[in-house]
Amino acid sequence: MINNFDFNIPVKVLFGAGKLNELGDNVKQLGSRCLIVTTGNFFVESGLVERIQNILKQSEIQSFVYTDVSPNPLDDQVDNAAAVVKKENCDFVIGLGGGSSIDAAKGVAMAAGHDCPVWNFAMGTHDAAIEPTEKTLPIVAITTTSGTGSHVTPYSVITNKATKQKPGIGSEHIFAKVAVVDPELMVTLPKEITACTGFDVLAHALEAYTCNIANEMTDLYAKEAIKLVGKYLITAVEDGNNLEARTAMAMADTYAGYAIAGSLVTLCHAIAHAVGGVSETVHGQTLAALTPHTVAFSMNESPDKFKTVGLLLTGKSETERDSFELSDTLAALNSIIKATGLAIPLSDQGVTESDLIEIAKGTTEYMAGIAEADVKAANYDDVLQILKKAF
Ligand code: NAD
Repeated sequence: MINNFDFNIPVKVLFGAGKLNELGDNVKQLGSRCLIVTTGNFFVESGLVERIQNILKQSEIQSFVYTDVSPNPLDDQVDNAAAVVKKENCDFVIGLGGGSSIDAAKGVAMAAGHDCPVWNFAMGTHDAAIEPTEKTLPIVAITTTSGTGSHVTPYSVITNKATKQKPGIGSEHIFAKVAVVDPELMVTLPKEITACTGFDVLAHALEAYTCNIANEMTDLYAKEAIKLVGKYLITAVEDGNNLEARTAMAMADTYAGYAIAGSLVTLCHAIAHAVGGVSETVHGQTLAALTPHTVAFSMNESPDKFKTVGLLLTGKSETERDSFELSDTLAALNSIIKATGLAIPLSDQGVTESDLIEIAKGTTEYMAGIAEADVKAANYDDVLQILKKAF
């Protein structure tokens, strides 16, 4: 446990049902022109984009909309959106949607602010990569999934199809200035995406908690997030209109975001990113396929913490610790994976057996910095074994 640490999440979070209405007042200091970046036309058709544009207009902010971003945003999509920012002379960028929209908005803010392709910032993937600076345009996050935590993290995940890489760019300059976490925006999220994004929350919290740079503060957030996921994820999946469950998952997402921002994700995310670079899988599904195997690989290195994960997830108290085994943590994880419809092997997610070698290489090469945050060091052969089990 590290008791000597920095913790700095400089994001103004507007949390709660109806909070979207306060957007204008909270962003008008960022400028008078902005680009709203979102994945596809869903929020245009649902009327949410128009509602946001009207809220912004009341604060005398003119907005433009860019919808050509895919889930798992691509570097060229980000660069095209950055060109719109330059053309329209925008002062700031709003990401509207899940992690893909918010990460894309962060990428746009970097690319437009520095007038260069976003891939220039893909640290770890090429020698010429540079760190973003204060030239990055201000970012606003309106999150509609629970989630990636991207609204409160200093990370942006961008995929490059040509190099088949999906690195996380990390910088204090890409924290959102303002994040809106309004659970009313999440009730339209389909069952399957609720499950996948909810599992991402659990993976963040579990990994940040068991990470070798975890500290007292990140443990606090991570443990609370795991408890909330255990109590509310299945309800949110089964009854998407349940605002109590949506609010609890949005809270868990935000806590888990704080946890990974102050600690880190570990081996499972390192492998999942390498999977995502090679194959267009759904992030949360991939994490669910890998987590039981990465946990089994690492849990004996930190048995108390991995036991705590299981206790929190199943709502058990500390008094039950002595009769709780590490295998019970694995059983609890497998149970939530099954109950949320996420028991899908990598082979059914579009990954082919011949991809596994490239994925293992990606994990131990450009994702090595994340893999090394795990309590147990994994070499290429270890990763390949885990992949074969999850396949
Ligand atoms: P997503 O943003 O890719 O969204 C998935 C789909 O759900 C999209 O089609 C989107 O339009 C739709 N959608 C989103 N909200 C909706 C709503 N309320 N109603 C109806 N449809 C809705 O999903 P995600 O899991 O939030 O983001 C995944 C991306 O985030 C991946 O690229 C992943 O690697 C990245 N990620 C980033 C961080 C970070 O800290 N930056 C952390 C974890 C993951």
